[in-house]
Formats: sequence, C-alpha cells, structure tokens
Amino acid sequence: MNTATFPGTDVTVSRLGFGCMRLPTMEQGDKRVIDQNYAIEMIRYAIDHGVTYIDTAYPYHGGESELVVAKALADGYREKVVLATKLPVWLVETEADLDKYLDEQLKKLNTDHIDFYLMHAMNKERLEKLRKLNYKAFLDRAVESGKIRFPAFSFHDGPECFLEILNDYDWKMAQVQMNILDGDEQACLSGIQAAYEKGVGIVIMEPLRGGMLAKAPKEVSDLYEAWPVKRSPVEWAFRYLYDMPAVITVLSGMSDWDQLKDNLRIFEAAEVSCMSAEEKTLMDDVKKAYLGRMKTGCTGCRYCQPCPQNVRIPDIFRSWDESLMFDQPSILKGRMKNHIANKEDPSQCVECGMCEAACPQHLSIIDLLKQANDAAK
Ligand code: SF4
Ligand code: SF4
Repeated sequence: MNTATFPGTDVTVSRLGFGCMRLPTMEQGDKRVIDQNYAIEMIRYAIDHGVTYIDTAYPYHGGESELVVAKALADGYREKVVLATKLPVWLVETEADLDKYLDEQLKKLNTDHIDFYLMHAMNKERLEKLRKLNYKAFLDRAVESGKIRFPAFSFHDGPECFLEILNDYDWKMAQVQMNILDGDEQACLSGIQAAYEKGVGIVIMEPLRGGMLAKAPKEVSDLYEAWPVKRSPVEWAFRYLYDMPAVITVLSGMSDWDQLKDNLRIFEAAEVSCMSAEEKTLMDDVKKAYLGRMKTGCTGCRYCQPCPQNVRIPDIFRSWDESLMFDQPSILKGRMKNHIANKEDPSQCVECGMCEAACPQHLSIIDLLKQANDAAK
C-alpha cells in the first residue's frame, strides 16, 4: 500500500482511507443497524493489509459508527492507525458544547486522543457560527491538552468560502468532495491547489460521487474500452484522484468484501503524478460524456437549500440525472416515493423563486422540478 505524509506533520498514512459512513448493515426489528461482526472484520482486514487511515463522524449510522470503530480498534488496532472524526457543528449551541461533544466522542471511540478532529461539513453559515463560539481557542486548547493532535475541517460549499475557511486558522488537513465530475464544484481543483500551496494536506471524500461513478453509461464505457490499458470505472475514478500531489488519502466508504478487496488491489499502485497527458484528456472526455447524459445541470452545491417548503431540490435533481444516466427510471421513481412521504417533493413548491435567485448555475429550478415530477410518474 502506497503512503503519503501530511505536510507540516510527521503523520504518514495509506493513500486509501477507510470511510466508516457506509459500513455493512443488517435488519434489526424495523430498522437497519451496522452488521458489527462484518464491519469489524472488514476494518481489521483493511488494517492488516496496509490501511492506516480510519475516518468516522458523530452522525454516521445514527451515531453507531464511532462505537463500532472503537470496537474494531480494540485489541491493539488503535495504535496501528490514524483516527479521524468530526464535530457535529450543527448541534453545537454554546462554547461549552464544543468541549462536551469532543469529550463524548473520545469516550465513544474509547481513545485518549483523536488524530484529526474535523469541523464537520463546513460552509459559510457554520464558519460564522464557530467564529461566534471562539472555535480557535477551543481547538488550541484541545491540541494543548492532547485530546486532539491536528485540527481539520470537512467542506461543502463553494470555492470562495473554501478559501475563507482555509485561511481562517492553522489547519493541518481539509477534507473535500472531489471526483472526475467535480473539478469546478465545491472546493474546486483550484481550492485543492491553494491548500497544497499553503501546506494543508487534502483528504478526498465522495471519490465516486455517491457511487455514481462506479458505473459507466454507454458513452463512457466506449471511451474506457477504447483505451489500451483496461481499467474498471472505479479504478479510473480513484486513479484520477491519487494522481494529485496534494491528495494524501482518498476515503472509500466500503460496504462489502468485494469493494474492500478491489480497493486494496487498486491502491497497491496508487502513485502520485501517474497520469499521462493523454490519460488526462481521456478524463476530460469521460467527464463530458457523463455530463452529456444529465438533464438538470445541478452541481449539488445546495445554495438553494433550505427551501421554505422543504423541497429537496438537489436530491431530486440528482436522482433524475442518475436515472437518465443509467436508463433506470426506477431510481427517480423509488426515491420520489420517499420525498412524497416526507412532504419534500416537487408538489410542495409554491413557486416563491427563492431557489432560482440563489442558484449559481441560474437553473430554471421551478420548471425542472415540474419535469422531474412528470418523469417520476
Ligand atoms: S420556488 Fe419552490 S422549490 Fe424553490 S424555494 Fe420556492 S417553494 Fe422551494
Ligand atoms: S439547483 Fe442550483 S443551487 Fe440548488 S444545488 Fe443545484 S446547482 Fe446548487
């Protein structure tokens, strides 16, 4: 397993990280819970085969992920890994809450320190909130006390906000969404470059855009098949990321043995700067082919949220795009049923126009919602 070192630290980790947000689950009564034996076996197998970066968060699996990670890291496994978890910024109301959640997470994880402690899903609003709560003093204090080793943040907003947060504190890591499709979205490739130049290590989340890039529509598979070296869509998606010198670790939310073993195989050859100019051109063509299948043009930035009527605009658009990409209307239809049950479907829209005013892509959201509603029938 190839490794990389976080700039400004002595921490070297595997380039494949185990993301513990999609652990294997099983039925228990009327709900799904983590299949603990399966998950623990998988995490330990990954560590035994070179994975040294484990990522979890307070809300993953309804709070169960941190508890299962603690069990997986018992029996000497904790000492073998770098452990990252995240503060649920949206739940914090007072300065005392910052310490309260950190202490609770240390307890849940059954450890005396967290290696990377991330401010979770940061955006403009959460940055302002944390500033009011004097977050820098909290993080300084947490480092000084040894409860955390390195302050970090994960991010979901636009590129300007990314730079503002990046430059607001002496972070040691930033976790961003990046994949073949998102070079101009979220933190953007320019944000990753800025972090690199500042000496802040990058951890990648959503490398397969929620699993979408694990599959290839015909136009994409034609491109891959014409390439002299045969690689799966997953392998290409990871290769695009581990090629980047700024990227320390790519998180994969592995849910079964096949995914784990395939990822371990792929990351055996995770060399930085491995892609030729021709391969980069291929990635541009692949991106165009994926985007050519999509109808909405929605980038998932979520600037249009929350909608006063609770319409889940980006989720609906994503489901629609996915169903078009893979010629599977059932994707949209199935998810729309849930939106209807939760009263967050297009029929709730009162055409107030707030979303369209907020959308940086200038999408005709109201009209697109009507079309998505029709397509789901
Ligand atoms: S126009 Fe409709 S979808 Fe957009 S914010 Fe208003 S109610 Fe929500
Ligand atoms: S509809 Fe527009 S504002 Fe909303 S998530 Fe998509 S691109 Fe962003």
